[in-house]
Amino acid sequence: MKIEIIRHSLSHILAAAVQELHPGTKFGIGPAIENGFYYDLSSVALAKEDLPKIEEKMKEIIKKNIAFKKEELLMSDLNKLFKDQPYKLELIKELPGEKLTIYQSGDFIDLCQGPHVKSTGEINPDGFKLTKIAGAYWKGDEKKPMLTRIYGVAFKTKRELLDYLQKEAEAEKRDHRILGQKLELFYFDEEVGAGLPIWQPKGTILRKIIEDYLHKELTSRGYQWVISPHIGKLELWKTSGHWELYRENMYSPIKIDEEEYMLKPMNCPFHVKIYQSNIRSYKDLPLKYAEFGTVYRYERSGVLHGLTRVRGFTQDDAHIICAPEQLSEETTKLLKDGFKILKTFGFKEYDIYLSTRPEKYAGTLKNWIKATNVLKYVLKKLKLKWQIDSGGGVFYGPKIDIKIKDSLGRPWQCTTIQVDFNLPDRFNMTYINQKGKKQRPFMVHRALLGSLERFIGVLIEHYAGALPLWLAPEQIWVVPVGSRHEKYAKEVGERFKALDLRFKIKDENETVSKKIRGGELQKIPYLLVVGDKEMKTKQVRARERGKGDIGMMKLTKFLEKLTTEIKVKSF
Ligand SMILES: [Zn+2]
Ligand SMILES: [Zn+2]
Repeated sequence: MKIEIIRHSLSHILAAAVQELHPGTKFGIGPAIENGFYYDLSSVALAKEDLPKIEEKMKEIIKKNIAFKKEELLMSDLNKLFKDQPYKLELIKELPGEKLTIYQSGDFIDLCQGPHVKSTGEINPDGFKLTKIAGAYWKGDEKKPMLTRIYGVAFKTKRELLDYLQKEAEAEKRDHRILGQKLELFYFDEEVGAGLPIWQPKGTILRKIIEDYLHKELTSRGYQWVISPHIGKLELWKTSGHWELYRENMYSPIKIDEEEYMLKPMNCPFHVKIYQSNIRSYKDLPLKYAEFGTVYRYERSGVLHGLTRVRGFTQDDAHIICAPEQLSEETTKLLKDGFKILKTFGFKEYDIYLSTRPEKYAGTLKNWIKATNVLKYVLKKLKLKWQIDSGGGVFYGPKIDIKIKDSLGRPWQCTTIQVDFNLPDRFNMTYINQKGKKQRPFMVHRALLGSLERFIGVLIEHYAGALPLWLAPEQIWVVPVGSRHEKYAKEVGERFKALDLRFKIKDENETVSKKIRGGELQKIPYLLVVGDKEMKTKQVRARERGKGDIGMMKLTKFLEKLTTEIKVKSF
């Protein structure tokens, strides 16, 4: 028995239970989803408190071992049968054919194709749980009525269910949306707008540390940094093809004087223009332009999610413009350097995908084959394990995607390396080759972290907010025991300042234990307590995050420990 069939059958049982407990409920749809199922329905004020009762009723139905009976009905009979179910009537109207199938289980009848379990007894009554209740627009359309969606999770065994629930609870504790607010990193404000994070001082420090690190790494690898505007004339996006092929992700034009401008969904056309600001020869290649480019893309409000799905975000973007024969070497570098950088952030496991030519594509077949083979060759040479996503390439070229795995084993799409046969043609990009002739270069788009927003969201979840010392916006809190120790605390602070360490002196009128508790909640890597003894002997008493009290030590020794830890970027 496929688990999806059990999950979907449970959605029927859920609806049957609600119908019994709340007669008059109007039903929408109830599909199986990843890990479980849901049913959309419209009923008088169902709340989370009702879920245990519904769950009980479902178990009762399962234990009664009720059969799922299939029947085919003519449209006219269907309309009669569902006369009190407006959403079902709407579905009947939209479905083709003269007959449709219905399934009956006990008193509940649903319009459905199946398949289901033969009888409810095939379902483990201890293998499922109703988890949440939420609002959902009918058919996901904001203009349609808001229904109530009841979610459940389901597995074949109780063990699997408990494992899943435990993992979920762990994920919940790591939710970057909650931690981001608690740790004062970023914030969403209704008046600013959905999907538009605003970065608080501490979050900005974190971003800047990441940017500075990448800046250094890429500069040493021959990248040149550029900056491009946030808007560009509609004409530019027509030339690039975005207007034609990517418009649904773009916002409406902005009128400036008599001309229309678009908020940029990508940085690429600007980098092409920078390339074209001069005549290029084979000696100039490869040219690598990097930018922390903020782009804006339309996302439906329903799919927005913290920092991982937003409407405005900053890509760690780069474009590599190279001669065709340089593709192999450049891709090798991209992957090697990419893994090194991801590892520094603490990610050591990946899922790698090579996406090949889709049905509709730009460029010549010859170039597609050549580039795809190069990407394959490089993956093989680096002895990487990858999967083929057949036909999953973008229309303009094959690509390699890397999903990083976090500490809970969840994959997150971050790195992408995409060969592009479209833009070089559309913008008529050329370089002078060794024979003195004009030739078309290859262009590779690449984002390593993906976007700073998304990556920081992933970082927060990976570390459950306890960021490694080199990334922590506040690295140390110095807690003087009494007011007479404040002077010494400031002296200690001066030493930190000289080393560019990020610290705070906690001289508020609060107890030491309260300040320590506060520091733990803020996930500060080191908390130092200074009192009489420390002051007299020029020492500090340190508490290390996750370890507790690590004892008294000379200030110089503590500084040594910290600077080493930062230097090696330990995590
Ligand atoms: Zn069904
Ligand atoms: Zn690009």
